[in-house]
Amino acid sequence: MAADILSIAVLGATGSVGLQTLDVVRSCLPGIKVKALTGYSNVNALAVLVNEFKPNLACVKNDADAKKLSGLLTTKCEIVTGDAGLEICAAKSDADIVVNALVGRVGLAPTLTAINAGKNIALANKETLVTAGELIMRLAHENNVRIIPIDSEHSAIWQCLQGGGEVEKIILTASGGPFRTWTKDAISICTAEQALSHPRWNMGAKITIDSATLMNKGLELIEAMYLFDQPMENIEILVHPQSIIHSMVQFVDGVVMAQMGVPDMRLPILYALTSSGRVANNFQRLDFLANNSLTFEAVDMENFPCLALATHAAKTGGTLPAVMNFINEWAVGQFLQGTLKFYDISRLITEAFGAYTLQPITDISDVWAAEDWASNFVRNR
Ligand code: NAD
Ligand code: MG
Repeated sequence: MAADILSIAVLGATGSVGLQTLDVVRSCLPGIKVKALTGYSNVNALAVLVNEFKPNLACVKNDADAKKLSGLLTTKCEIVTGDAGLEICAAKSDADIVVNALVGRVGLAPTLTAINAGKNIALANKETLVTAGELIMRLAHENNVRIIPIDSEHSAIWQCLQGGGEVEKIILTASGGPFRTWTKDAISICTAEQALSHPRWNMGAKITIDSATLMNKGLELIEAMYLFDQPMENIEILVHPQSIIHSMVQFVDGVVMAQMGVPDMRLPILYALTSSGRVANNFQRLDFLANNSLTFEAVDMENFPCLALATHAAKTGGTLPAVMNFINEWAVGQFLQGTLKFYDISRLITEAFGAYTLQPITDISDVWAAEDWASNFVRNR
């Protein structure tokens, strides 16, 4: 089936999801025109992509990076910078769909800009829906904009829902991360290097640490609530260490639909870009005889308190998920630098929850205010 999408802008093109998105275009959808690419401070990697895909717009961190990029280009391309440049790429690139593959809270503002510009969004940046899920989904609805999931679990749920039917529950699967079988004492003294060696997926550093703490599954729980309009109670988290089943939907008649495949992010990306079509490719196929044991376990909230904290934030709503997201992102950065230990991440979030006075979200300024509070909290701790 031919792709419906004619052109894309890729925010975060030099990252794990961004590069895999461009690999999907290169290998499966060569008819897609790439209109904008952003790479922040990864100037050399961005230059290679701009020279290959020839977008009209490219965005880097600042003027110095813009000058460096300009010197590396062999094709004509307007270069923009900073947060304002990201928003230009999100809204003014003339692309049919904006792929948001930015990492962290920086992804929210360009998502809003794209929605206001009426652009459909293929969303990898899970922090967008964690910080402002209800608002984003409402604005998307009002602007007739589609939010298409890229995260493998949400793509799986979306695919399982294609057949229709009343949903009894969503079963969100989790690999369990690198510390699934470790004791709490061993986890407490783990290094960033150990946390970065994920057993199944090769991803950017922030999401890999989130996968080790299981915060990633908490962020995905919140993401799923908003994407699929389900209360938290209807979403069950199940550890499935092989990462072959990417998530499931149980319907009211007890029938369970599961989406399976090799753990390869190019599959959900391809599905997102082709508006639910099926496109032939030469990616690796699932070998059931080589993967002949699919196992399931309950989640361990005791060893992975970040998941319990995210569940609390999901249940509480308002600005609490935005506060949690900010503190988590900051603490993960510190853990990667070796200045915080693994369990300091959940400890800091717990302390912040104790100190914060919950606010409702009526517009985006409530989210920015919550993030300001969280920023002060980590600065003054
Ligand atoms: P990554 O770190 O590999 O890439 C992030 C991209 O964002 C890079 O292009 C980087 O240059 C850019 N960036 C970083 N900070 C920026 C800033 N301040 N301003 C502008 N640009 C900035 O991240 P990733 O692993 O590709 O993840 C991207 C998003 O997708 C995350 O929200 C993650 O949770 C989600 N996700 C990733 C995967 C995966 O397999 N990597 C799977 C599911 C969901
Ligand atoms: Mg995921």
